[in-house]
Amino acid sequence: MSAAAQNLTASPAARAFLARDHRLLIGGQWVPSASGETIDVFDPATEGHLAKVSGGGKEDIDRAVQAARRAFRGEWSKLTSYERTKLIWKLADELEANLALASELETLDNGMPLMVAQYSIASFGCDFLRYYAGWATKITGDTIPVSPGGVRNGESLTYTRREPIGVVGAIIPWNAPLIMATLKLGPALAAGCTVVLKPAEQTPLTALFLGELVKRVGFPDGVINIVPGLGESAGAALAAHPDVDKIAFTGSTEVGKKIISAAAGNLKRVTLELGGKSPMVVFPDADLERVIPGVTRGAFFLQGQNCMAGTRLFVHQDIFDRVVSRVGDMANKFRIGPGLSPDSDLGPLISAEQRERVMTYVASGRKSGAELVCGGEAMPGRGFFVKPTLFSKTNMDMQIAREEIFGPVLCAQSFGDSDLQAVADEANKSIYGLSGSVWTRDISVAHRMAGLIDAGQVSINCHAAVDPAIPFGGNKQSGWGREFGREGLDPYLKTKATTVIY
Ligand code: NAP
Ligand code: MG
Repeated sequence: MSAAAQNLTASPAARAFLARDHRLLIGGQWVPSASGETIDVFDPATEGHLAKVSGGGKEDIDRAVQAARRAFRGEWSKLTSYERTKLIWKLADELEANLALASELETLDNGMPLMVAQYSIASFGCDFLRYYAGWATKITGDTIPVSPGGVRNGESLTYTRREPIGVVGAIIPWNAPLIMATLKLGPALAAGCTVVLKPAEQTPLTALFLGELVKRVGFPDGVINIVPGLGESAGAALAAHPDVDKIAFTGSTEVGKKIISAAAGNLKRVTLELGGKSPMVVFPDADLERVIPGVTRGAFFLQGQNCMAGTRLFVHQDIFDRVVSRVGDMANKFRIGPGLSPDSDLGPLISAEQRERVMTYVASGRKSGAELVCGGEAMPGRGFFVKPTLFSKTNMDMQIAREEIFGPVLCAQSFGDSDLQAVADEANKSIYGLSGSVWTRDISVAHRMAGLIDAGQVSINCHAAVDPAIPFGGNKQSGWGREFGREGLDPYLKTKATTVIY
């Protein structure tokens, strides 16, 4: 049922925010885009117009980078690490204090169920910022006991220090917009960098809301700049900018490759969190009471618009039919509707374009001979809703099993009593290597299989375990580098070795 039909209306606070003049945050000021261009933002549950937002371009990116550079050299660099910790922590507190409004805006903009928005912003938004706030005071170098140039022991000192890399360009997607913004800001600010953030064109609202909190909290002007705009203009300008030291990108593999080319001009550092086609491997001894909800949610969380989504289900032949039928039953029971409704388990896809893309894959699945167990349909009426879809009897030659769909489509195939390596070979038949899960009660099988899956992250008896402290990132074409945890700080730091000979 559409949001309009259910008479779900945004709260007065959300409506007041939406009605504002949405400008770019550059150097601590809200400014219109140089070109005067604007971006229209729509609610994917109702297709209704939500807001008009200034759309930044090359000139605005250039101003934002200059502001970030000034801040990097200026007041920000003079703050102590404790002061950085306090500011980042304060931003987390401010976000938490505004959780209701932030979540509502996220739901309106992205479509995700309100409860998912609340939970994810509280845990991955606020706690992620707090996790990295703590790191600001723990960035240290080494002393290295060597005697370069043949001097005698004790006549020289070599030490390293870890310095902030400089101005960071952060480019993020639409699938979990506010979380993505905090994932980039946390480590960058902890390291002492300044940031120009470009949110996705479909979902700029919560980044702009975060900008208001940034100003309220009292970050020095220019430390965090927020420039909504189109990927081809604002995004490309940021990736190519000669005075940006690093790009932190989350998005598609296709655009990730463009970022690498654009970054070559000044050899800026690049980290990439890209697409996935993650396997979930279920052995015959697994506890099905955990498997069924675990893999079903693993596939359809955020309507499958989740880079870690388990989209390929490998099940031992002895339990294949049982698992497939129970996953299908559970998927059929999900209540699909606008995120603002407390009765919705799954919301809409982000756009009509994304719905068409998913339906094209569904058609390809049907044509290739896969067996449709459930779903396979877009829902009539307003909003970009697609039923959770399960295909059985798929194989890795099928397009639906090979390509990232980024929608609610799960492919199931069985395996026999072959050795673990053969099962892993099938699970690894993908250009991606972001995530994966293994389901069994046998700890030897669990850990051996986890070792054989070629992915940055493997979960056992759950799918996609995420925590700010657990390193996250992809192998193969799923990306470069890792975010989260101590490793997630490294790309924002550079090492300087200093030697003195007494
Ligand atoms: P996308 O099209 O790659 O866009 C991501 C961001 O890049 C957007 O802000 C986009 O701007 C911008 N962009 C587009 N073209 C650009 C260019 N030439 N230069 C610089 N920036 C450019 O991805 P999406 O469709 O938003 O998101 C879906 C993809 O993200 C999926 O492949 C998914 O797997 C991946 N993802 C990965 C992770 C992870 O952590 N590994 C997490 C979430 C999503 P516009 O908004 O204007 O297009
Ligand atoms: Mg895009």
